[in-house]
Amino acid sequence: MPDALLLILKLFTLSLDIQKIRNDFPILNQQIYNKPLVYFDNGATTQKPQVVIDEEVKIYSKENSNIHRGVHYLSEQLTQRHEDARKVVQKFINAQHDHEVIFTGGTTESINTIAFSFGEKYINEGDEIIISTLEHHANIVPWQMLCERKKAVLKVIPINEKGELLLDEYQKLISAKTKIVAVNQVSNALGTVNDIKKIIDLAHQNKIPVLIDGAQSVQHGEVDVQDLDCDFYVFSGHKVYGPNGIGVLYGKEKWLNEMPPYMTGGEMIKKVTFEKTTFNELPFKFEAGTPNYVSAIALATAINYIQELGLENIAAYEKELLEYGTEKLGSIEGLRIIGTAENKVSVISFNLDNIHHYDAGMVIDKMGIAVRTGHHCAEPLMDSLNVEGTIRASFSFYNTKEEIDKLYEAILTVKQMFS
Ligand code: PMP
Repeated sequence: MPDALLLILKLFTLSLDIQKIRNDFPILNQQIYNKPLVYFDNGATTQKPQVVIDEEVKIYSKENSNIHRGVHYLSEQLTQRHEDARKVVQKFINAQHDHEVIFTGGTTESINTIAFSFGEKYINEGDEIIISTLEHHANIVPWQMLCERKKAVLKVIPINEKGELLLDEYQKLISAKTKIVAVNQVSNALGTVNDIKKIIDLAHQNKIPVLIDGAQSVQHGEVDVQDLDCDFYVFSGHKVYGPNGIGVLYGKEKWLNEMPPYMTGGEMIKKVTFEKTTFNELPFKFEAGTPNYVSAIALATAINYIQELGLENIAAYEKELLEYGTEKLGSIEGLRIIGTAENKVSVISFNLDNIHHYDAGMVIDKMGIAVRTGHHCAEPLMDSLNVEGTIRASFSFYNTKEEIDKLYEAILTVKQMFS
């Protein structure tokens, strides 16, 4: 087939019908301050398609029953749906086994679980843990607290002025005392995509396990934990078009089997006597208490939804939005984009000369546009960039170039108001 024809075919298959997609998200179809809502706060949380909302309503209206315990019909049916949801997540990240997928309350809970449980077993006085300057507080504080408990040392990979990790410096930080590396795949504040394959390879050459915080990456492109060979991978349901209060902790079977449980109670036990308790097998050992089965099942619905759109298509379209937005907003005098990595997802963080980000955010809000302002739960990163905070626009596949034009106009208004 001639090259031109192939290209046309590829473009055709890569296209998303954005208007049709927008109709799947009821929240987008409303006015804020009498203006059509422009939702550019997808880094904080994504909106939910009708199928996800319907799934929850259906469970509560027809199927609800506590799972794993009952012998009655509803309980058995919903237990099956819950375990099917685990398989959907397994396929989504290409985990080898479904029992390597633990349902948690979100990324924060997943990281705390690993920091506590891995830390209990493997971290001793003088050991070192490597994180990076780009981390969200959720991937800093649990490690800091572990270091305090065990008298271990936290080491931090520095960044360059574009907001990219300095991998040569990372290599220098690795030592015989390093026990774990924990980094994000994508920075929530800047959108930088880290070369995690290289980070993992370097750690593994030294037999060090790696945790990847995927809170900002699973929604933007395909993830294959076996190909990455990461030891742990975590993400939140609400950032991948699913419900709140559900998240995923993927861990290699070997680690999860060796690590002690984090939370204890019902479901995670095999046998309890007042003298001694034995623990359940994976994944239940890490799922104490009644699971959030409604959200787990609705998360699987959200994953099926984005997989039907195609993560490749999503990535291609969001790249288009990023390029358009970077050029358009970058053309505004006095606007400085913070985070200009070569490899980014659809996030634009910026500041305006002499205008505080909160002031700008409040004016932009009055035009019906939702952006996030502040330190984005990444205070050490803001410090290292010498900024107090930024204005962040994070785009999803349901956003449009016309909406970016509206943000552009809003920023011009902000500038005028404060000049
Ligand atoms: N890590 C990153 C990179 C994030 O962006 C976030 C959420 N902003 C978190 C961790 C924490 O996620 P959650 O609040 O859903 O637990």
